[in-house]
Amino acid sequence: MICGHMLRPPRHFRAESAFGTVGEPFQPIPMTLFPLFADLSGRTVLVVGGGTVAERKVGALIKSGAHVRVGAPTITAAIAAHAHARRVDCRIGAYEAAWLQDAWLVIAATDDAVLNARVAADASRRRVLVNVVDDALLSTFHVPAVVDRSPLLIAISSGGTAPMLARAVRERLEGLLDHALGPLAALLGRHRARIRAARPALAQRRRFYEKLIDGRVGALLRARRPREAENALRAALAAPDEERTRNGEVLIVGAGPGDPGLLTLHALRALNEADVILHDRLVSSEVLELARRDAVRIDVGKQAGAHGSAQSRIHALMLEHARAGRCVVRLKGGDPFVFGRGGEEIEFLRDNGISYRIIPGITAALACAAYSGVPLTHRAHAQSVHLVTAHCKTSLDTLDWRALATPHQTLAIYMGVGELAVVQARLLEHGRRADTPFVLVENGSRADQRVISGTLDRLSERAQAEAVRAPALLILGEVAALAPRLAWFGEFVSSAPALASAA
Ligand code: SAH
Repeated sequence: MICGHMLRPPRHFRAESAFGTVGEPFQPIPMTLFPLFADLSGRTVLVVGGGTVAERKVGALIKSGAHVRVGAPTITAAIAAHAHARRVDCRIGAYEAAWLQDAWLVIAATDDAVLNARVAADASRRRVLVNVVDDALLSTFHVPAVVDRSPLLIAISSGGTAPMLARAVRERLEGLLDHALGPLAALLGRHRARIRAARPALAQRRRFYEKLIDGRVGALLRARRPREAENALRAALAAPDEERTRNGEVLIVGAGPGDPGLLTLHALRALNEADVILHDRLVSSEVLELARRDAVRIDVGKQAGAHGSAQSRIHALMLEHARAGRCVVRLKGGDPFVFGRGGEEIEFLRDNGISYRIIPGITAALACAAYSGVPLTHRAHAQSVHLVTAHCKTSLDTLDWRALATPHQTLAIYMGVGELAVVQARLLEHGRRADTPFVLVENGSRADQRVISGTLDRLSERAQAEAVRAPALLILGEVAALAPRLAWFGEFVSSAPALASAA
């Protein structure tokens, strides 16, 4: 449980909320709150108030299995529906102290401060704990912000000083703590007695738990393989202590096109878990900044034109660090399975018995389309999308140009900056219309993004005139005509000069 550390503040102290200084004097609050988790199942809890705030509290209380009594002159439709389904018991009318009969807890959630104070006083007289919503002073218990990975629960309180801050902390934790924690807690609960018996010494047991959580059992649960996770736990229990050395793991992670906001939550967690990060040149510095501070970062970026040796060095590094028991993140621009050699890397890991996970990323085609306002498909303009690499002359020669030149489809061409003249010539030769629009998206999704638009007959000329540099992605097809109207991010360089010279 995370709890605000509370010191009684000086009289004129002013509270800081998550959004800056608030003008009200700081409310004195109790010295220290005692955190506890209450079992309310079958126990009566009174909620005074029938508005939307009360409705939220009622919902949470129903989930806890409490016997909920709601008292108010009027109630919301949702509370009425709960009453109808006999999930709550309603007292419609003006507040009476008799409503407190048999209650273990009381929540006052009315917008009438005098009434809230009266409820608080009545409750205190009966030694019943009371929470007055948004009033730390009148409350004898607080309702925390909660991160729910049941049966694991994290409750956060700022002691009523800054609820917005508690909520902000909750949001951060939501992002950091993966879904597997709940099943993990349940699994450990089921085997707790057996683990205790098999590892009687505390230090031994602690080591065992650490390995389960950080090792294979945790990884299998994250991969949503609960049965295999349980088997792995049983196997670990049966194995003698010495054999259970920590196994490293490689996470093949897509870092997206550059904007760190386009990382997935899984990718962010991987960056937080990493001992070693092997990253490509394409991975942006903003993304790398999110990684664990003490992770070792190794730039294994291949310069355009470099070959084989770089890839074998990557393989060797993955093997070396995983075998040393480290968590290795192989961080790739975009998505690892789209022109990213992710397939080769996991085959290599598999052949060498290293466990791996794969976390997809937003590939350049999707990001560049979105960030240039070009829908890749469109009912009126394109019924399919082709992801194509124009890496070098040899790879260009293997492409089916006739198929690529068909109208009403979109081509997203990767690694093509050096080969635009060839792309242009082949498409025209195979009958793609000269006036087919394109956009070239340079540094897609990054602060220095540029979108250059034009038509196929002037593709290479436009790229040269605008000195387009890698990384850039070519999107060609009828849909690109929408860019001038829909572009919204970075610099847009239209083909206006071309039209002027033609006129
Ligand atoms: N796995 C990556 C692609 C690697 S190939 C992915 O899924 O995106 C490298 C090529 O991707 C570059 O030459 C360029 O064509 C494209 N690319 C990657 N990031 C880009 C970006 N931010 N903007 C434009 N193109 C990008």
